[in-house]
Amino acid sequence: RGDENGYVDIDWDTLGFGLTSTDYMYKMKCFKDEEFAEGKLIPYGNIELSPAACVLNYGQGIFEGMKATRRENGKIVFFRPDGNALRMKKGAERMCMPSPSVDQFIDAVKQTALANKRWIPPPGKGSLYIRPLLLGTGATPSVAPATEYTFLIYASPVRNNYFKEERAALNLYVEDQFDRASRGGVGGLKSITNYAPGMKPLTKAKNNGYSDVLYLDSVTGKYVEEVSACNIFIVKDKIISTPPTKGTILPGVTRKSMIEIARDQGFKVEERQIAVEELLEADEAFCTGTAVAVVPVGSITYQGKRVEYRAADTNSMFKKLLSIYVGIQNGQIEDKKGWIVEIN
Ligand SMILES: *Cc1c(COP(=O)(O)O)cnc(C)c1O
Repeated sequence: RGDENGYVDIDWDTLGFGLTSTDYMYKMKCFKDEEFAEGKLIPYGNIELSPAACVLNYGQGIFEGMKATRRENGKIVFFRPDGNALRMKKGAERMCMPSPSVDQFIDAVKQTALANKRWIPPPGKGSLYIRPLLLGTGATPSVAPATEYTFLIYASPVRNNYFKEERAALNLYVEDQFDRASRGGVGGLKSITNYAPGMKPLTKAKNNGYSDVLYLDSVTGKYVEEVSACNIFIVKDKIISTPPTKGTILPGVTRKSMIEIARDQGFKVEERQIAVEELLEADEAFCTGTAVAVVPVGSITYQGKRVEYRAADTNSMFKKLLSIYVGIQNGQIEDKKGWIVEIN
């Protein structure tokens, strides 16, 4: 199936960020107090759940997000998949769920990518976004961990943000009414419960012309945390700073990689609390995440005050870091750290 080059027949140049369903999904089940054993690929489609499934009633579920990318030489690669596997394991522990081992996770995402190979965009056109889910699918009449769990993976081709939207900088709105995460909560994991509460502030921000919301810490309301689904960095006098991930901020694989890349380039990177006032003084700001890669921030608005940054500056830190990150991903820069995992 697929055309003579093995691709599905779609126009890769008009690929967006929406969901395009692919041929196969991966499914693996296990009971409470047992371990995941064997999963399999099945045709993509709807799943059946008990109305009393724990995930539907009490939100016992976590997810991951990663990309499989096709290189010019035909190789299909993942970027640091162990980071996603470990994060899911940690998240599962906090949410009282059994989780696939790191090896099981990586094997399953590989299988999913290869089964949907004809949907992996040609080099430079995008990637196959892969979404692993771990859900408490057993029925639970009261608030208690489910008796049965499902690890499910689906995939969708998406375009690469950095080719079409490189100049489309984010206009962030600092939210000082709604919080994203609280002390002792689950802000530090990709728990499904973290995202619906963000829809109201995000909708409000979008209706007012902003691209996304920048959240502050919920204890003092003074310090910057992160954006709806990406981490934030600021640059001042060539020093890069980002808030520390201590439970309320999602520890992004891209964030961690960007810190390492910047330090390898000889730049100073500080993981420290960033007071919201510091945003007004910064030379530059950018966001990181698997979906956006590295994207510049064009403006930040806080309590009616708007600061703008020179996002498109050719000497910007964002551009330097983005080009190295993209270079390592597409193979133009040697991967000295073992971040790239070939899957075919
Ligand atoms: C997924 C996510 C990120 C980015 O994490 P990556 O591993 O870099 O993709 C940042 N913040 C939130 C809230 C997220 O859900």
